[in-house]
Amino acid sequence: MSELIGTPTPGQPIYRVGEWSVWKVEERCVDSFAPAFLFPAWDEATAPPRTAWADASTTADEGRCLRLSIHSWVLRRPGQTVILDTGIGNGRERPGKAIFHQLATPYLSRLLASGVQPDQVDLVINTHLHTDHVGWNTHWLDGRWQPLFTRACYRFPAPELAHIRQHTGHLAAVWRDSVEPVVQAGLHQPIAFEPTVIAPGLTMVPTPGHTAGHMSLWLSSEGQHALFSGDVMHHPLQVLAPGLSSVFCDDPARASATRRAVLAELSERQALYFSSHFPGSSVGRVQAVGEAWRWVPV
Ligand SMILES: [Zn+2]
Repeated sequence: MSELIGTPTPGQPIYRVGEWSVWKVEERCVDSFAPAFLFPAWDEATAPPRTAWADASTTADEGRCLRLSIHSWVLRRPGQTVILDTGIGNGRERPGKAIFHQLATPYLSRLLASGVQPDQVDLVINTHLHTDHVGWNTHWLDGRWQPLFTRACYRFPAPELAHIRQHTGHLAAVWRDSVEPVVQAGLHQPIAFEPTVIAPGLTMVPTPGHTAGHMSLWLSSEGQHALFSGDVMHHPLQVLAPGLSSVFCDDPARASATRRAVLAELSERQALYFSSHFPGSSVGRVQAVGEAWRWVPV
């Protein structure tokens, strides 16, 4: 067993995957999306029964809305600290998007309380470059946005970087405050859109659909496996109904095909799944049930 280096915040579970310790740093929950909004193909008549997926931890507003979490994952082994996805960030101008606009959350103090000093982080991974996955890449310091993790190498999927650089819509602000400062500081390195080992035991794989360049992280250590797959899924409901793609997915059909492939691989490898937006612990396993799957939170 390796030494546990992180000091968890009270009540914060730490998961072990081989020699790695993994824990969540929460930014905020979002309780405002009804199933029919988040999943445009939602049909109450054909949806999985509520008893199979809806409880006090997965829904809000007396079951009318889905509960989502926005958070980072910290992965640490002796001598190496990794952060996967960096939330929304404070003080961002996201007009028309209330859940992202001008936040003032205690994310940074939670990160510190969990035992992570930003200048200790070696590697920052963004699964894709949406506003809720890149925010704490930077912080506001001395009148400008600057990289928060000053000694880290930031890894972005190459197609995501190419896309956001030339985007003139809502992603332009994300580029300016959360990605461009990292690029200008020379701290980034694109990830080729193919299975790519980025550190011992850490392999990025293409998982397109939510965005064309979306990638996921497989962690393998001492015979144990875990997957961090960003926005391949937003809610445990999608384990039961993988045909439901979110309103935020660029290519719903491709997102669904990727989701099914990911679910099959998770159950085959008996891997832990560290989700980007599932509520509660946000961690669990996927069990095959005939042609379908079920979610078993851990
Ligand atoms: Zn997301």
